[in-house]
Amino acid sequence: MIALTRKSVYSLCIALTFAAVFLPGKFSFSQEKINKPSTVDAGVASIDITPGFPIRMAGYAARLSTEADSVLQPISAKALALGRDGQHPSLLITVDLVGIPWRITKEVVDFLSKEKGIDPAQVAICASHTHGGPEVGNLINILQYRNGNFTDSLLALSQLIHITQYTEQLTQKLKDVAVAALNNRKPALVAWGQGQALFAANRRTKGGPVDVALPILKITDPDGTLRGVFVNYACHGTTLGGDMHKIHGDWIAEAHRVIEARHPGATALIALGCAGDANPSPRGTLENVQQHGKEIADNVDKLLTAQLQPLNAPPVGKMKWIRLPFSKVPDVNELIAQTKDESIKGYNARLALERVERGETIPSTLDYPVQVWNFDNKMAMVNLGGEVVVDYSIRLKDEYGAEQLWVNGYSNDVPCYIASRRVIKEGGYEGETSMYWYNKPSPFAPEVEDLIVNAAGELMPSAFKEERPAVNRQETIQKEADGSYRLVSWLAGTAGERIKYMPEWKAFGWFDAKDQALWKANIEKAGKYDVYIEYSVSDKEAGKTFTLQYGNKKLKAQTDKTGSWFTYKTKKAGTLRLPAGTVDFVLGADSGKESGSVFDLREVRLVPVK
Ligand SMILES: [Zn+2]
Repeated sequence: MIALTRKSVYSLCIALTFAAVFLPGKFSFSQEKINKPSTVDAGVASIDITPGFPIRMAGYAARLSTEADSVLQPISAKALALGRDGQHPSLLITVDLVGIPWRITKEVVDFLSKEKGIDPAQVAICASHTHGGPEVGNLINILQYRNGNFTDSLLALSQLIHITQYTEQLTQKLKDVAVAALNNRKPALVAWGQGQALFAANRRTKGGPVDVALPILKITDPDGTLRGVFVNYACHGTTLGGDMHKIHGDWIAEAHRVIEARHPGATALIALGCAGDANPSPRGTLENVQQHGKEIADNVDKLLTAQLQPLNAPPVGKMKWIRLPFSKVPDVNELIAQTKDESIKGYNARLALERVERGETIPSTLDYPVQVWNFDNKMAMVNLGGEVVVDYSIRLKDEYGAEQLWVNGYSNDVPCYIASRRVIKEGGYEGETSMYWYNKPSPFAPEVEDLIVNAAGELMPSAFKEERPAVNRQETIQKEADGSYRLVSWLAGTAGERIKYMPEWKAFGWFDAKDQALWKANIEKAGKYDVYIEYSVSDKEAGKTFTLQYGNKKLKAQTDKTGSWFTYKTKKAGTLRLPAGTVDFVLGADSGKESGSVFDLREVRLVPVK
């Protein structure tokens, strides 16, 4: 059960794992984690974007075709500016909308570039994919779907006017909130870490993969006062269904509300991860919205007091547009045949014929934005357009490290679902039908997965491209330059049936109290050594006793709570006196006294006592 929670994200890992070469010694351990943090200029700002007049709602095709004229929750846009002028400052904007079309992003990016000198690669707008927000233009062909049929008639004039007026106001507000964040910049401490939230469920396959990671970026004044927290979670904003005809922001707006209520004066920003195939579970009621919002806020609170990794430099952004091929562009005869289809496919064929009739061509590719922000060479934030399915997150984290990657979907443009090779092959809504809703001629060609992952790889900081050990292999540990010894998991042997090296975390999944990790170290100098252990554990499994022994000497210590299986922590376990020469270490649970999962273990470090 624990193992499922821990591993469910990566259940596809084996199929997707790349061929890594084992290169001992190339891997840098995060010594910098304990270095003194330095400040980064940061500014946060928030703006209400709740429509001030009745407007059609976005998100579900099966909705009333009248305008929503009341508000369940206010919705907002937030901005986070990082870096001083002259440091290529960046702007991260989150917005409570079903999607952000590139034409709006472009207007904001052009404005920031022209007026503030901000590089377009340093601007990201991330939509929350709430299905309770207003329409901002025809992202998805749902406005023509009325009472179970598709219609060619224009929207009622008042509805058209409201959508266009709202879109214009929204664009101005996004510019305003960005400028406010830039103007608010002052020295701050920035740190990041990740936990988990567990309400996302794969909506295509029961028990299928989801990314339960909950990364946060914490922004505080130098005195520690919380100023802002940027949070990411991979789950659709679909807790409430199409029968809710009031403007709302779903679990995202509720999480904003709870976090900000618990931390007065702080601004919460939330973006979605690769949530294309993840729905909240349970869903359907306002209580569910409150429950999910609280789960996010509770886990954010745990992380705010966890051992986070300081980020001592503002992000450096790189961006690339790539062309994603559709599997097929139907010719006129095929489109004519498709019009007989009474579903969205037939309606989309009529739209395509209209394009042809106007002298336009049906595009065979989609221009797609990929962005990577390098935070101090410690964390890379990948911003992908569209409704990205979970396989991308799994693959990127597999290739570049779950411990150092943050993936935002719905970023800068939401042109359609971004299915993976697997999902394209399987078909269904995310793989095929949704493409017609999004006005695309066909499903994507399967190679789009490699094109996107390769583009992200090209933009990735070079330190992240070092090949990662795919398996653990015992080797004699030698002294580090600082005199310490790093008993890392990938250089350990194992005993026990269930212990498993997790390459994406560079750690052991320790699934059974009978499991052991074994190291051989060449200790050059006899003496006392402090023992530090880097591990993660769920709150439920925390508190177990483990031992590190050699010969008949034994050090005993207990695990503290870290917050989640994804939240690693370094703890001093005690002090050992070591002899010179080759020493065989055995790490395990206190024998016979413990059962179940003990921890996920990344490393034991032996530091000579001066
Ligand atoms: Zn969606």
